[in-house]
Amino acid sequence: MTSPRIEPVGPISGQDLPRYAGYSTFARLPRADEVSHVGVGILGVPFDAGVTYRPGARFGPGHIRQASRVLRPYNPELGVDPFRSMQVADCGDVGCNPFAIGEALGQIERAADSHLSAGTRLVVLGGDHTVALPVLRSIAKQYGPVAVVHFDAHLDTWDTYFGEAYTHGTPFRRASEEGLIDRQASVHIGTRGPIYSAVDLSADRELGFIPIHAREFTRTPLDRIIDRVLERVGSRPVYVSVDIDVLDPAHAPGTGTPEPGGLTSRELLEMIRSFSQARLVSADIVEVSPAYDHAEITALAASSVAYELLSVMACTPR
Ligand code: MN
Ligand code: MN
Repeated sequence: MTSPRIEPVGPISGQDLPRYAGYSTFARLPRADEVSHVGVGILGVPFDAGVTYRPGARFGPGHIRQASRVLRPYNPELGVDPFRSMQVADCGDVGCNPFAIGEALGQIERAADSHLSAGTRLVVLGGDHTVALPVLRSIAKQYGPVAVVHFDAHLDTWDTYFGEAYTHGTPFRRASEEGLIDRQASVHIGTRGPIYSAVDLSADRELGFIPIHAREFTRTPLDRIIDRVLERVGSRPVYVSVDIDVLDPAHAPGTGTPEPGGLTSRELLEMIRSFSQARLVSADIVEVSPAYDHAEITALAASSVAYELLSVMACTPR
């Protein structure tokens, strides 16, 4: 016997209550404990003990939620209302140890496990990029190795910093070593800026990524770049990880390690929309550091990325 379809509970309408009022959940959605099931959960991970430069991403989830108040429900580009097509809810923040990285990684993984094992897909709001590792550990338990589409100015496949293996510059090397990612299908998008040596790039390829450098966006039509990415991931389960520093500092100043020469928010949002043709299982948006933000520029970009990811999930089966 199939259970009756339950109409999703959407956000408070901006027609009923001004958007600057009401709940401080993402997009003024209901909390997870207010609905009978959660199809897609927004999960905050306020952790930034892994940063190598500017701190402050621990305040990212709250800042992105604040900027998400301005979102409206219907997505005309994808022709979908993600909040009416599935139950989206705010799962709050993971309580993680700000002093002990190893313990925090376990806390984040267990929180992700509790949602993913119940059939909920996640849009994780970081936090620094360290948090992608425990989320991928949890994802791999559900789906096996996944195609990782990693938007970032940086490779994040370095080995250690000051001898430490778990930092925001190392999550994808650890994920590859642990067998969490599909080495035939993963990709970096938006790579740029100086690196430590040419070996960084060759080592990265062995870990299973191909890089699409930011400079390619100046000469290659966006459709061609999108086709390359979709061809690489194919029909595999896809995890999208968005370091907001993939955007040019003009579009995202509020981040920990900014690099000039990045994508525009228009290019990033269009690339995210293309995953409506892929099998998106979960995603994260990380490295929003509000103390360096101005006029919510970075948080508006991040909340729009989250909205497009939700819209993509509404278009695609899990
Ligand atoms: Mn980065
Ligand atoms: Mn990163």
